[in-house]
Amino acid sequence: MILRLLKDKCTGCQQCLDACPFNAIDWKERFPEINENCRFCRKCIQVCPEGALVLEETEKKIDTSGYRGIWFFAEQRQGKLSSVSRELLQVCLQMRETLKEEVAGVLLGYQVKKLADQLLAHGCEKVYLVDRPELENFLEEPYALVLAELIRRYRPNIVVAAATMMGRAFFPSVAARIGTGLTADCTQLHIDPESKLLVQTRPTFGGNLMAQIICRYHRPQMATLRPKMVEEARSVQQPKGQVITETVSTQLPSVVKLLAQKRAENLVDLQEAEVIISGGRGLGDGKNFDLIRELATLVGAAVGASRAAVDSGWIPYPHQVGQTGRTVKPKIYLACGISGAIQHLAGMRTSDFIIAINKDPDAPIFKVAHLGLVGDLFQIIPFLIRKIKENKS
Ligand SMILES: Cc1cc2nc3c(=O)[nH]c(=O)nc-3n(C[C@H](O)[C@H](O)[C@H](O)COP(=O)(O)OP(=O)(O)OC[C@H]3O[C@@H](n4cnc5c(N)ncnc54)[C@H](O)[C@@H]3O)c2cc1C
Repeated sequence: MILRLLKDKCTGCQQCLDACPFNAIDWKERFPEINENCRFCRKCIQVCPEGALVLEETEKKIDTSGYRGIWFFAEQRQGKLSSVSRELLQVCLQMRETLKEEVAGVLLGYQVKKLADQLLAHGCEKVYLVDRPELENFLEEPYALVLAELIRRYRPNIVVAAATMMGRAFFPSVAARIGTGLTADCTQLHIDPESKLLVQTRPTFGGNLMAQIICRYHRPQMATLRPKMVEEARSVQQPKGQVITETVSTQLPSVVKLLAQKRAENLVDLQEAEVIISGGRGLGDGKNFDLIRELATLVGAAVGASRAAVDSGWIPYPHQVGQTGRTVKPKIYLACGISGAIQHLAGMRTSDFIIAINKDPDAPIFKVAHLGLVGDLFQIIPFLIRKIKENKS
């Protein structure tokens, strides 16, 4: 964008100078001159009585008409399809309702044809499969090269990936190779019914605002979506899609060589956990997280936390659930001593079954809880632990 002065209209009244909140106007030889502080807030345009300031689009527009199709990157690890792949498929199927374009998955790996069939079995209309030994394990460079080549070949309208370690690692590189934009870490994706553009919603300003971002002039429209924001696509009765095995001309070099793989121990995998027991400020002290850990170990649950608990230094950040932490969707979520602030609910309210323990009967967490226990967690949790131990022995 550029802010242009129409000199023949300007009378030099200086109203724009006073209106600018960013000190972005210098006065030079009777005329305003816009400097690099300009944020295109339009305040000067609004006050100019002569209409002498105009905002012009300088963006290079491309012909977007040849771009069709809604693509998602189907994530797999060690020959197993990640659940996020089915979540992305679900989002793409929802977008198809408005956009009426074909939904296709891109699957990269080695000897993973059966995973392509699994995607079709969940309603995917097409799977582009690149099966090569170099793609057996995820490496950023070869994955980015292949996906970029497929995008150039087929010109999809939309390409999305999950905001996982994998998606975050290589998707920006794909967008840069193609020369398009990328909105990372979205919490929602949908199609605007009028413009048919992809509306990419994500938190901004530390989570205080939700921004809606569109990519008007470049293709494809690319975004990563946080895991667990939607349900997974369900299996369909009669899969109709097709698998297209693609070859890529490109050599697949990588500056990174994979020498060995070792599974990280004590990894906090909240997003895959079926049961999560979370503690909040109601625990009163970091050492009381031992109570949560004991209960969690007994029932095979992962340990979560509110931001208040994390900020107090009681438990590390990877355990945080909420808007600025992890978004989770376990079968059971047990919130202990957590009030249920909107930012916490943003990360767990879609859990299948929510249980809350809180001594305040008016705590907002009870509004989303399927089962609420009003009482002191220091009585309830030891009681639960005792009962579970009794049943086990
Ligand atoms: C931009 C932004 C982003 C944020 N992101 C997140 C986020 O990702 N995740 C998050 O959790 N928060 C987030 N927050 C913070 C959020 O607003 C709350 O401050 C936070 O969730 C409160 O944590 P809490 O429920 O543990 O503490 P509190 O709100 O203090 O609640 C403690 C609860 O414990 C109960 N209690 C006390 N003692 C006992 C007891 N003995 N037995 C039973 N119950 C007891 C109390 O009744 C109370 O309801 C964010 C805030 C902002 C502004």
